[in-house]
Amino acid sequence: MQPQPSRRRISPRRLAALASVTVLTLAVSTSAGNGRLSPGTSTAGAGPSTLSRTSVHAPCMISPEGEVQMSEGIPTAPGYTRSTGTVRALTLMIDFSDAPGEGDALDRYREFFPETSEWFATSSYGRLDYRPELPVPDWLRMPKSFRAYGIERGAPFDPGYRELVRDIVAEADPEVDFQSYDLLNVLVTPNAGPAALDTVLSVTFAGNKEAPSADGVPVSNASFVYSRQDDGSGSYDRTGYRVLPHENGHVFGLPDLYTAEGGGAVGHWDIMSEDWGANNDLLAWHKWKLGWLDASQVGCAADPGTREYALTPLARAGGPKLVFIPLDDHSGYAVELRTRAGNDEAVCRPGVLVYRVDANVDTGMGPVTVYDSRRDSGGCTRSPNVHAELSDATFVPGESFVDRRAGVRVAVTAAEAEEYRVRVTRTSPG
Ligand SMILES: [Zn+2]
Repeated sequence: MQPQPSRRRISPRRLAALASVTVLTLAVSTSAGNGRLSPGTSTAGAGPSTLSRTSVHAPCMISPEGEVQMSEGIPTAPGYTRSTGTVRALTLMIDFSDAPGEGDALDRYREFFPETSEWFATSSYGRLDYRPELPVPDWLRMPKSFRAYGIERGAPFDPGYRELVRDIVAEADPEVDFQSYDLLNVLVTPNAGPAALDTVLSVTFAGNKEAPSADGVPVSNASFVYSRQDDGSGSYDRTGYRVLPHENGHVFGLPDLYTAEGGGAVGHWDIMSEDWGANNDLLAWHKWKLGWLDASQVGCAADPGTREYALTPLARAGGPKLVFIPLDDHSGYAVELRTRAGNDEAVCRPGVLVYRVDANVDTGMGPVTVYDSRRDSGGCTRSPNVHAELSDATFVPGESFVDRRAGVRVAVTAAEAEEYRVRVTRTSPG
């Protein structure tokens, strides 16, 4: 509820959005087959191999029509890191002659771990066993100055990042077998480049087959974290690590949900929208996409008529989590129950969240839109420096979401401690 710092915080994000778009153009145009850092370990790439579905789910598996760099479609395109099972994250801390690492490199590592692994374990109900590995537990000094790489906001892979990745590989190679890892985290010394409040440099190159090779495998999926996202609200110690799960979300194939206007489309309901301030889990749509929900936990409301569905809190393991109402081949409405638990510790109005997902809309352009049950309310969160308006967007018993044009109604009919019921009515098939 502090508009000033919030604006300050959103504006660097806007710049980061541009960075992602630039970067992903390269990523997708070059991705093919298994884009993991290491094809050495055997399970195949992200979406298709891990997605749980039945023939009943076919109408709900929306997909993009034509060229979309990074889509909400299901299953996820190949080339990204597998998002279930044990994932080994090679984590390196780097510094430069003009930005020497201050103090112990392990302190930089501890800004993100064990929190990042725990966040993924909680969000995935234990299906993603994320293991950071530190074969070089010290600052890895780059041969050039930070300035010489020309890294700035929106910098494309060529030439600066290509050079940086090549140098990271060269410096680390004596001690690192790159074939043993599924993704790369580069934790840059915080004194390199501008403060995060001025410019967010943190970026991920995902599914990038053009990346330099190391030990015979391309460094295809790499997240770079710069600076510290400390907004001065006092929450950094608890929330600053979440830039890494956000960046890694791209490595697993998830698009950015914030847009050039900031986090107004999804607020804090997904870490791919806003990763600071109030803690936020992932949308159920993302959990299905990542292989963290079974087909039995996903209802597909494709047929005309009225059906009732049960929903259990998304943050708790087990039970039905998602109802999807397809509108056409590339879009639909998702319905889920959000309560204060797990990674959703900051939910201030438990209830049913309704949002539209469009596989044709690219990363950073608003592929997901949350519907606000209380427009212009100002929201219910009291956390500082957050996009507050959507924090009370949920629907509670007695309330309904209605799209008359599409002939879709979602009514929340009952709420018990651990289960809500929704009645979905549609007048035409999806
Ligand atoms: Zn992002």
